[in-house]
Amino acid sequence: MSNTHTDKLKGIPVEILNFDTTNGTKYTPSITATLNIDNSVIREISQTKISSTQHTPAYFVTPGFINAHAHWLMLGGSSLREAVDLIEKNPEEMKQRALINAQKTAQMGITTVCDKGPPGRKNAPQILNQIKEYFHENNPNNPNNDNNGRNVIPRTFASHWTISCPGGFADVFLQAVSTKQELLSKLEELRTSGSELIKFILETELDANYEYKVVVSDELLSAAVDFARTHNMRVSAHAKGTLGIDACLRHGIAGIEHALQATNAQIALLEERNIFVGLTLEGFECRIKHAVENREDTNTMRVVEYEWAAATRLATKLAHFHSDERNSNSTNGTNSTNSASNVLFASDAGSHSTPHASLRELMLMRKFGFSPTDIFRAATWNGARFLNQQNNIGKVAQGYQADLIFWNTNPLLLSELEWERLNKHIAGVMVGGRWAKLPSHLSSHY
Ligand SMILES: [Zn+2]
Repeated sequence: MSNTHTDKLKGIPVEILNFDTTNGTKYTPSITATLNIDNSVIREISQTKISSTQHTPAYFVTPGFINAHAHWLMLGGSSLREAVDLIEKNPEEMKQRALINAQKTAQMGITTVCDKGPPGRKNAPQILNQIKEYFHENNPNNPNNDNNGRNVIPRTFASHWTISCPGGFADVFLQAVSTKQELLSKLEELRTSGSELIKFILETELDANYEYKVVVSDELLSAAVDFARTHNMRVSAHAKGTLGIDACLRHGIAGIEHALQATNAQIALLEERNIFVGLTLEGFECRIKHAVENREDTNTMRVVEYEWAAATRLATKLAHFHSDERNSNSTNGTNSTNSASNVLFASDAGSHSTPHASLRELMLMRKFGFSPTDIFRAATWNGARFLNQQNNIGKVAQGYQADLIFWNTNPLLLSELEWERLNKHIAGVMVGGRWAKLPSHLSSHY
């Protein structure tokens, strides 16, 4: 590929911020350096001394964000039924709309997305594969000489459909299985269609007693975890309720979606067993806003109010999980890490009127008590570890993919208010060495 744009980076001093901790005690200190990017990969990082005339680096550089919960084949505003109709009756139209959302998403700094399953199944795996293929640079539809960013989309890992058992919520849109044999054949299909993830819906919607009933047996869950282990896939489970979270703990599920009713004891076990949690605050916020605006029925209001309150309560707990034990040796500065170590950036983009191409989830995490460092760790390094891609993405380091955000300001020093418009501080975004958003400073060279 032509490297004219990335070549320009060679002489430019940047300050690199990484968040590659696994135990949450500290993150890599920032360094001033210049980046040498060759094709999609960071070939070299040379430490730089900033000259006396140049007091600040040109940009602050962080790894690109990883949104661990989105749905390319849901369009935010529309209902699931509308999305299914589009997927089934006009897959090309759905693909084009998904690609536009994906391009905007990359421009926001989100360089990797986990697709947690389309509604329905017919055509969906094919469309998701076309989106993944589009990402790759040798795709003729995505010429490398086009550096205006129009064509650059995030790398995508996906569950090509969602699995549950009869009774699972919204089960008309899922692949419901009843026996282990059925499950294994669905999983095999999922694997051969190219899925990297297995998304399981473990439970029903909230019932009158504020419980989410588990509909998936231990036998099936255990079979899915074994299958995933054998084939290097990851199981993500939708579990809002205490019972579902217990099932995830019993089986060592890689990631839990929502985890609304997690007790303190469960939170401690999730931390101990390295199980990832996606909060989806933005998804719950959009759902309650939508319900209020549309004057939805009493039961819907009961559910959305309960879930929003539970989500914010959980966020607050996770944000301060390690606060007590570290109070003695950590300041309240921007570098402090206090949160649980395995929280993900997970917005549920696409579902329930939740938009794509949004960083609001990160702002909400900040609002409910996460430090900037903890948020960046969640949105970069944790996402990479969840995907078992920590040697490839989630860090600015030699040999890693050049998935980078170029900031005008040190993002760790932004006030809480400025997180409302985080993207205004993003000068440029690169995905796999290609510009999704070209910094104006560099474009002026051409
Ligand atoms: Zn979702």
